[in-house]
Amino acid sequence: MKMTRSIVFVAFCACALPLQAAPDDTPRLVLQITVDQLRGDLPTRYYDRLGEGGFRYLWENGTVYTDARHNHANCETIVGHTTLATGATPAVHGMIGNVWLERETGETVYNIEDARYRLLTPGADVDQETEIDPTQKAARSEGRSPAAILVSTFSDELVAHTGGRAKVLAVSVKDRGAVSMAGHAGKAFWFSKANGGFVTSTYYYDQYPAWVDEWNDQELASQYGGREWRLLHPQSSYLFADTDDRPWETDLAGFGRTFPHPWGDSDDPYFTTLLTTSPAGDELTLSFAKTLIDREGLGEDVVPDFLAISFSSTDYVGHLFGPSSLESEDNILRLDRVLAELLEFVDEKVGLERTVIVLSADHGGPDAPGYSNSLNLQGGYVDPETWNKEAAIARLKDELEIDGELIEKYEHPYVYLSPAIASRDDAERETIERAVAAELSRFPEVSLAVSSRALEHGNVPDTELIRTVLRNFNPKRSGDVYVVFAPNWFINDFDGLVVASTHGSPWEYDAYVPIVFAGHGIAAQHVSRRVYTVDVATTLANHLGLKPPSGASGEVLYEVTE
Ligand SMILES: [Zn+2]
Repeated sequence: MKMTRSIVFVAFCACALPLQAAPDDTPRLVLQITVDQLRGDLPTRYYDRLGEGGFRYLWENGTVYTDARHNHANCETIVGHTTLATGATPAVHGMIGNVWLERETGETVYNIEDARYRLLTPGADVDQETEIDPTQKAARSEGRSPAAILVSTFSDELVAHTGGRAKVLAVSVKDRGAVSMAGHAGKAFWFSKANGGFVTSTYYYDQYPAWVDEWNDQELASQYGGREWRLLHPQSSYLFADTDDRPWETDLAGFGRTFPHPWGDSDDPYFTTLLTTSPAGDELTLSFAKTLIDREGLGEDVVPDFLAISFSSTDYVGHLFGPSSLESEDNILRLDRVLAELLEFVDEKVGLERTVIVLSADHGGPDAPGYSNSLNLQGGYVDPETWNKEAAIARLKDELEIDGELIEKYEHPYVYLSPAIASRDDAERETIERAVAAELSRFPEVSLAVSSRALEHGNVPDTELIRTVLRNFNPKRSGDVYVVFAPNWFINDFDGLVVASTHGSPWEYDAYVPIVFAGHGIAAQHVSRRVYTVDVATTLANHLGLKPPSGASGEVLYEVTE
């Protein structure tokens, strides 16, 4: 508790509460909002057309960091969420990518999969036929838990500090957007495309709370059936009014590249998927979160509670249409309305002055290369399948005296060498990895390829780019060579699903995100010094008087806490 704030608060309230003791200054609720793929420039790009109470409330009443970024290389969903949750780098929290290759089995692992904890709703598993999120398809079982997160989250620290009395909950369309934020001690709910409701796993509950069953029984998702995503405002008012139909936008069957985008009938197998690739996914998340706040009684007593909400629509819309599209623009304007409704509800239930709000993003995203090229800017799609690499591989195998396979797999962002090479001694491995990295670096689409052993041994130049790769390196999970494609170059074909835009690089457009703190006596100010997403959990812990999460390396953002 900060003496200065208590004094200010008492002075401010003295006339209203003349006969009462000093009011309790502890916040009742910490509300952590994460917007998936909200690049740092997107809220202010459309600022003059935002409504009241959403982004504008935060930007005008909060402490806004205008030069915030992730300081790890692989700007992907689980990596960014877990960094925001733990204040640790991926090297330490272990979430080095949405997927990685498990050495013991040779299989690809999905970050939060855990076969020990099945979904609480039978049959709500990922459907391999209709799932369009390629990383989601990688999971080998339907089970989910935070077991693979190697350190504590801010929310874990809150539970420990309060003797288990703090209520900690997290909600998202994406399982990884909720599980990461709930930490090990909280509860997570996510959207099931199989049944249109929110689900959880047996890690969290033996049976659903009554309010979850009641919310799911309303079948709110099906109310979008037969309807379509239309523009919120007259089309002529949009920045991208004249460029709705662009050839690089993804043309999902029935959904199309232009407004209006029909969601189809509620019994169509792709119906719930299309809800998530539009603002409807965020609207459903909001509805579920409001019921959660109400029925779980968040913020009702003096023990601070924690609610994390990760809004996923911005990510899916960004992938399909690019962040510079009419769809992305309308999605941001609609997200603004979702945020306004959320903040109004929290204000009614808890009071914004008793709530610590923090908003950030798990990553940003690049413009579609077609958009960039139309403005004479660089960019393009990478297809390693078409690379002429056989000759180089044969030569390397000859030079390095390798029998059998050289490369096991490429699983973004790492090349995994074959197990026979991984079992050699460290010096030999470094020689081989460096040779592979040197060959990869010859391709024009590759900016940098880094040997993991060279990183471990300190045999790399000390550049900021290499440091981001080092912060992403966990020896048990990372592959053998980290590949950074050139700015605005990325893979966009995922088993035949061809998307407009893919993030996952260390470049600024993927790393640059907003960080805004608001509510609970936090000052209205814009701060342009560079800060990092690892600072968020450290700052929350400091503000609440908790010890930092176990692996946190971020600094306290003193503009928030002083
Ligand atoms: Zn994404």
